[in-house]
Amino acid sequence: MAEVAVYASSYREARNNFLRAARRAGAKHQAYHHPTERGPAGEPLFLDVSVLGPGNAANVFVVGSGTHGIEGYSGSAAQCAWLRGRPRLPKDTAVVFFHAQNPWGFAHKTRTTEENVDLNRNFIDFSKAVPANPGYAELHPQLVTQVWEPAAVDAIFARLDAFRERVGEKAFSDAFNGGQYTHADGIFYGGAQPQWANNAFRGAVQTHLGRARRVAYLDLHTGIGPWGEHIYLCFDPEGSPARERARAWWGERAVNLQGVTHKALATYNGTIIDAFASLLPEAEVTTIVVEFGTLPRREMQRAGMAQRWLRFEGHRDPVLAARVRREYEAAFYPADPEWRRAALEQSQEFIDRGVKGISSS
Ligand SMILES: [Zn+2]
Repeated sequence: MAEVAVYASSYREARNNFLRAARRAGAKHQAYHHPTERGPAGEPLFLDVSVLGPGNAANVFVVGSGTHGIEGYSGSAAQCAWLRGRPRLPKDTAVVFFHAQNPWGFAHKTRTTEENVDLNRNFIDFSKAVPANPGYAELHPQLVTQVWEPAAVDAIFARLDAFRERVGEKAFSDAFNGGQYTHADGIFYGGAQPQWANNAFRGAVQTHLGRARRVAYLDLHTGIGPWGEHIYLCFDPEGSPARERARAWWGERAVNLQGVTHKALATYNGTIIDAFASLLPEAEVTTIVVEFGTLPRREMQRAGMAQRWLRFEGHRDPVLAARVRREYEAAFYPADPEWRRAALEQSQEFIDRGVKGISSS
């Protein structure tokens, strides 16, 4: 029975839970300390990497949490619960946990980094021209608001709806959340440089996974899919061996977008799973995103814009900001015990299936 007490209310608590569970399971640990930033209580911030099983294993299954900061609370709980379950590993197999991949966002309970960057759009090649997103440039002035009140938000949605009707679902998704590199005070901003979390992640992948022959990476998120249920996002093309492995390990739903209500997913730039695969060119790599569903898509779009308002405008109205912040946090990290229990139980099963899959491929 999954134990909901494993859900933390602060980054420090989540980290302590994780380190204790990893230590008791016998994992080896390495911390990557953020050199300049701290949490809201002044606490230090880390990417924590724990390796359970042989350091030279041929098969390595990796579970990452907190690419999107606040989404890491449920990912962290899933990691802790799995470690507490006294797992027995298949032969020549290791399980590696990346805890709090964006620790600043995790600690400050927001999706983005200390520079308002969506880490999952930040893994582009900054030595080249950044990807263009003319649709976002058109949308940005239409979704910026200094006042967060129902009439203003309704007006934004009316403009978004008009834009979507004009350009279609796919172009709308690309514009809105595909990632943009021009508006540092906007939403889904990919940044002007690699974030600290980006560099730490790449260093950790090379240090801990460079010797493995088969590697899989499961990146845990929240915010897409039906309430209390998990959905898979597989970005490998139809017919590719990586996609077939995902299908074999987790079933048809790993590749058929079951439960995804987006009419058209954006083409995302600079994702962490793409970076992961490109860092390990010699290995057989399987990557998958798992999302735990929370609120309907429109509410999540609202939350994305609320985050922008909180960060850049909220200081004008601290009382309203406190309420908007509570709503924002609930959208990515629901407090409902039934949601938490369901997410935890499901996570144990799909981690088990991934570990079994990589050791039998
Ligand atoms: Zn996410």
